[in-house]
Amino acid sequence: MIKRSMKQIAQMVSGECNHSTNEEMLSGVSINSRAIEAGNLFVPIIGEKFNGHEFVEGAIINGAKASLWQRNQENPPKNIPLIYVEDTLVALQDLAKTYRNELSLKVIGITGSNGKTTTKDIVASIMGTTYKVLKTEGNLNNHYGLPLTILRLEEDTEVAVLEMGMSGRGEIELLTKIAQPDAAIITNIGEAHLLDLGSRDGIADAKFEIIDGLKEGGTIIYDGDETLLNERVMGKSINTITFGSHSDCTYVPVSIKQENDVTYFTINKYPDTEIHMPILGKHNVFNALAGIAVAEYFNVSLENIQKGLKQLKVSNMRLEVIEGKNGSKIINDAYNASPTAMKAAIDLVQNLKGYSRKVVVLGDMLELGPNEEKYHYEIGELLKPNFVDYVVTFGELSKHIAEGARVSFEPDKVKAYTNKTNLIEDLKKIVSANDLILVKGSRGMRLEEVVMELKE
Ligand code: ATP
Ligand code: MG
Repeated sequence: MIKRSMKQIAQMVSGECNHSTNEEMLSGVSINSRAIEAGNLFVPIIGEKFNGHEFVEGAIINGAKASLWQRNQENPPKNIPLIYVEDTLVALQDLAKTYRNELSLKVIGITGSNGKTTTKDIVASIMGTTYKVLKTEGNLNNHYGLPLTILRLEEDTEVAVLEMGMSGRGEIELLTKIAQPDAAIITNIGEAHLLDLGSRDGIADAKFEIIDGLKEGGTIIYDGDETLLNERVMGKSINTITFGSHSDCTYVPVSIKQENDVTYFTINKYPDTEIHMPILGKHNVFNALAGIAVAEYFNVSLENIQKGLKQLKVSNMRLEVIEGKNGSKIINDAYNASPTAMKAAIDLVQNLKGYSRKVVVLGDMLELGPNEEKYHYEIGELLKPNFVDYVVTFGELSKHIAEGARVSFEPDKVKAYTNKTNLIEDLKKIVSANDLILVKGSRGMRLEEVVMELKE
């Protein structure tokens, strides 16, 4: 983590110390007064609900050595080492940017509509076989999560793997200019956040902002199946590497086999080498290709790429296979959902073999904008009675999934719920040995509550 004197930090954020000579060393930065580590710099953020300035004294009591203070905030506490700045959030971002520039490491930035966190975990697992790596913790991918991650880097960290999230224009631009990636990955362009961005074109523009902060001579690694990205790269003098299913992509999967909770695949570049990874879903093969591409770019050997993928651990609730009641298996994908992600999960479940019956429990996909009902209906249409036995939906929008499914399913095989307790009770009655249950919906639907009840 960052270790600098108060004076140095004041310089890095163009701030002013309340002591003229302050050589006091600070280590690490925190924005949460209850999670302070001894020696931290506390950064009070002004949020919608809380103003961090109210917690400055508490942070010091908890071990912080100094705090930032936004000039327009009244009554700065006396006898506490403070660095005065115009805006504490901007100062946090400036501090991260300056610190990143003082370090001699490689930065990999990852954006895209789906699969950022998974790809981040894949990239970190592979790069970790060869380099000292630090990655974004969980999903801390926004305007304060990314700076805080950078400030956790050590002087000897060799590679930083940073997730960059967004919900509107200009957000990726801000993050990429702080992180200044040497390599940038765009996993894909989906339909997520249509509410804010209007169209897929708008989403592509927003994700493509990642090149605005790309280091001179840097490389962009992206979904080559996506026309909207190919168009944006054309005519620009940036190095590109692509992954996808089209033969003109740099990295293309040749064969994919999924068994139990392992995916085995081969790629065009090494057709005779079978690569294993302990996660399911064809979409994850493309996430892995992005990981392989960036690893080769940084000279990781094929052997270490295989090793990194084999020992991969991904964050919870993303196609997580767990034991269910009565000898059933659950695929917990309750972390989030968009039409692209929903299709990927359904494709996986429809193709998995060896189960007596398959049940899909699908919740609302939120924030899709004016065509939300249509998106839900189309998911329903995608489900096929040859491959799935029961369709269970939860939520108001998901009624349209049920409606779409009723086009091809017997009426008693499709059930729409708006009460989660009833859903759980009914589901408990139908699941038996060797059944497979997929649970997926947007974060706000909290479908992990269904998983908890169906778990062994
Ligand atoms: P968030 O925007 O919440 O940070 P994310 O982009 O980090 O999401 P993940 O958390 O990795 O994405 O995965 C979220 C969901 O997207 C998972 O449920 C997964 O099934 C699906 N998903 C992951 N990768 C892809 C992909 N390449 N294409 C389509 N869907 C994907
Ligand atoms: Mg994420």
